[in-house]
Amino acid sequence: MSKTIPINKNDYIDVEFEDLTHDGAGVAKIDGYPIFVPNGLPGEKAKIKVIKVNKGYSFGRLIEIYEESKDRVNAPCPIYNECGGCQLQHLSYEGQLRAKEKQVRDVLTRIGKLENVKVHPTLGMEEPWRYRNKAQVPVGEREGGLIAGFYQKRSHEIIDMQACLIQQEINDKVVQAVKEICERLGISAYDEQRHKGTLRHIMARHGLVTGEVMVVIVTRTQDLPHKNQIIEEIISRIDGVKSIIQNVNSRKTNVILGNETKVLWGEEVIYDYIGNVKFAISSRSFYQVNPEQTKVLYETALQYADLTGEENVIDAYCGIGTISLFLAQKAKKVYGVEIVPEAIEDANRNAMLNDISNVEFAVGEAEVVIPKWYKEGVTAEVLVVDPPRKGCDEALLQTIIDMKPKKVVYVSCNPATLARDLRILEDGGYKTVEVQPVDMFPHTTHCEAVAKLILK
Ligand code: SAH
Repeated sequence: MSKTIPINKNDYIDVEFEDLTHDGAGVAKIDGYPIFVPNGLPGEKAKIKVIKVNKGYSFGRLIEIYEESKDRVNAPCPIYNECGGCQLQHLSYEGQLRAKEKQVRDVLTRIGKLENVKVHPTLGMEEPWRYRNKAQVPVGEREGGLIAGFYQKRSHEIIDMQACLIQQEINDKVVQAVKEICERLGISAYDEQRHKGTLRHIMARHGLVTGEVMVVIVTRTQDLPHKNQIIEEIISRIDGVKSIIQNVNSRKTNVILGNETKVLWGEEVIYDYIGNVKFAISSRSFYQVNPEQTKVLYETALQYADLTGEENVIDAYCGIGTISLFLAQKAKKVYGVEIVPEAIEDANRNAMLNDISNVEFAVGEAEVVIPKWYKEGVTAEVLVVDPPRKGCDEALLQTIIDMKPKKVVYVSCNPATLARDLRILEDGGYKTVEVQPVDMFPHTTHCEAVAKLILK
């Protein structure tokens, strides 16, 4: 039988935190039994209250810190505790980078059973604030006025927000401007409960390199009252605005964008660059939200691919072709695969935009398309994967093992599935040479890493 649980709900106990969970809570152990406490930091001694007790683990609330970590800082954001968008602002940036490196190293050992893999220090930002190039903000009403901000943690209550410290400043400015303009013109906010009202979300996108701005107004209704006045005022207040879009979302859903997009003014897309590759970004396109670190991530992938110009490369999970186009400049040919058809349309358009012709994109599941290519004789010397959080499908990993590309570059947004997949590839004949964590989302617990594997 299992050991008895050493604590009870509502107990107050003293603990010392020894680790952080992947979602940023402090971990303490009582006779080996773990308790997770939001806001606790490794090395801290504290009094906590036990909130919930499960068989193998429990949750607590921080009551008092007796001894603070030297890495504890005051979160600079005034709404940090209510918002939940960031989870690590109370940890120094240096501490965050070390925690992400440790998280990668720990899962490689624990889940991947990989000893002696070189994990480099996390590549962080010099200025880890104001990095996001896209804001999507829900709109509500309070005492007759409009509010726009974020949903309070674990609720659907909108809290008004003037500024988000991880958002590029221009995006804050767009949100404030559209809110003020619409309020003055008497536009109603969407009411989720009654499914009434007009304005649902304000979205802003910014090309960091080009300075171009897109404003998207998401409405429940086809009609946007005072449309021309709204357009005029946005143009006069926002520098760099190139595109004003209305998106109609009449459904009862918490998905932000609806299916209908109308260009109210200007272009359908804005442009941006990552390195020297130019991208067209529409209101619906997926585009990495931290462009500065995206460049760092892709340069790491490029360095690990170590191309000479003679190689065929496969880019699985290619999205709008960002990594493919980056690699194509140094490869003989790049084949990209992606499941979302619109993303492949963007990828083809982006290839043309940059006069890159040695790429070929296909719509489909990587685990179906790549085995089919392999049967037809399409192989690659270098294979890049950048899967969603759940990692690679086993059928894809098996095809990699059969196809035997000399190098595999694994770009991952989830260290746990990365470690699981690296183990499968190791058992199939690959060696993990090195892993580079890259901080794409400072102050949040998201952890991105690139791994280099070579065929043994
Ligand atoms: N490499 C791109 C996108 C990475 S995000 C970039 O850096 O921008 C992961 C992508 O995998 C998403 O675009 C998602 O639509 C796609 N995807 C998810 N499951 C897939 C599957 N089974 N086969 C191919 N693509 C898939």
